[in-house]
Amino acid sequence: MKLVIAQLQHETNTFSPIATPWESFGGGNGPYLGRDAQAAMKPTRLPMAAFLHLAEQAGAEIVTPFAAWANPSGPVDGAAYDRFCDLLCEAVAKGCDAVCLDLHGAMVVADRTDDGEGTLLEKIRAVAPNTPIAVSLDLHANVTDRMVRNSTIIAGYKTYPHVDQYEAGHLAGSILLDTLAGKVKPVMAWGNRPLLAQTLKQNTGESPNREFVGAARAEERGGLLAASAFGGFQQADIHDAGISVVTVADGDVNHAQHSCERILDVAWQHKEDFIYRGEPLEQALVRARSLADGNGGPILLLDHADNCASGANQDTMYVLRAALAQGLTDIAVGPIRDPEAVETMIAAGVGSRVTLDVGGKFDMPSIGRKGEPLRLTGIVRAITDGEYTVAGPQFTGMRCYMGRTVVLDTGDAQIVVIERNQEPWDLGVFTSVGIDPTQKRFLLLKSRMYFRPVFLPIAKGHVFCDAPGVGTSDWTAFEYKKLRRPIYPLDEFPAEHR
Ligand SMILES: [Zn+2]
Repeated sequence: MKLVIAQLQHETNTFSPIATPWESFGGGNGPYLGRDAQAAMKPTRLPMAAFLHLAEQAGAEIVTPFAAWANPSGPVDGAAYDRFCDLLCEAVAKGCDAVCLDLHGAMVVADRTDDGEGTLLEKIRAVAPNTPIAVSLDLHANVTDRMVRNSTIIAGYKTYPHVDQYEAGHLAGSILLDTLAGKVKPVMAWGNRPLLAQTLKQNTGESPNREFVGAARAEERGGLLAASAFGGFQQADIHDAGISVVTVADGDVNHAQHSCERILDVAWQHKEDFIYRGEPLEQALVRARSLADGNGGPILLLDHADNCASGANQDTMYVLRAALAQGLTDIAVGPIRDPEAVETMIAAGVGSRVTLDVGGKFDMPSIGRKGEPLRLTGIVRAITDGEYTVAGPQFTGMRCYMGRTVVLDTGDAQIVVIERNQEPWDLGVFTSVGIDPTQKRFLLLKSRMYFRPVFLPIAKGHVFCDAPGVGTSDWTAFEYKKLRRPIYPLDEFPAEHR
């Protein structure tokens, strides 16, 4: 048995000003190619690791053209995408029994396609029309009809924050091996509802996503081979952005279809709960201050619209500007991506007093904003290589690279400024530069969801701070042109509409 196994993961924010060239993939130094892909993926808990382990256990010959993961950002470069497609199709054309793909499911490619995964799968099918293809997808996948038509098995993550990536790969891979052994005959159904659910409301530990994903789990227990509830990724102006479901049944397409509709109904019944209602920034900060007055710190100030895990620039200064204007003090901020400011402060050296523009280097034409740096004066407290190993509960043991990193201390705020985008997904963002986050009154985090396992346990409270950014939860900030309409909550629906 010979299996072709690869990973290609990108969540494309079509409103993001950040480019996505070939080099963005694989830790920032380009994708892992050939056998390097196996070495890089095997120790992880990613879907591709599950595919590799299953293939090894089955004694299969394994071919890995590449493993490629990039931070969410703007559309993928067309030439880079062509190269991925060519590498994969060449490997498949040499002959194999099946293909296993670890995909995200929200890839948009500049000048090529709004459906990066569907188009890729179509190309593979053209090369090998009868070869089974198993696909794992992120819970935030925007699933399309083309993806389903051109694959054999699809299974998605069932948790957000994502802690079951390996399990999703294992499920898709196991069904594939059973298919090759003639034990099952997978048939799929796919459907969606016109619902732009907000990422802030997709925590699977809470309603409404607990119910939506729970419905998929129930259908699996009821005899489906796999059932996946996708929240979708909505900072994407494409036709199929939004909530969807894929079910896989053993030979019985009616079973797959009925289950699919039942799961989708659960999402639609909860549609209002999938919408986040915020408060004005000033009001949020007043509330944060009173929380700190009552409980002490740290209180988390969550700048969720500038969260790089949704493709945001991670350099907007609106929340810090407002917090300082309101007289908040003892704030640790992290991290702000600004290579230019890092360079300036390294040139000045530790201990020197500097005045410079921090952040706001990116214009955001998609939301009608110019970059707005914040002029700050402070002491350069620390300069590091920005490396640390995650000690916390998610991505445990992973080595993180923020690029060269500087702490600017303005008296009221200690700001971690970095060269490379990095979500604050571990206390190491602060501890690696000498800041003890547990001792701060406020922690301003560029985070939407991943603060939960790491920062909530040390916090005395948290406040969502709504500010402009291309990761915003305010859909009215975007001008959608390709998205299917009508869609909730942008459009009204009669009460009985399904
Ligand atoms: Zn995701």
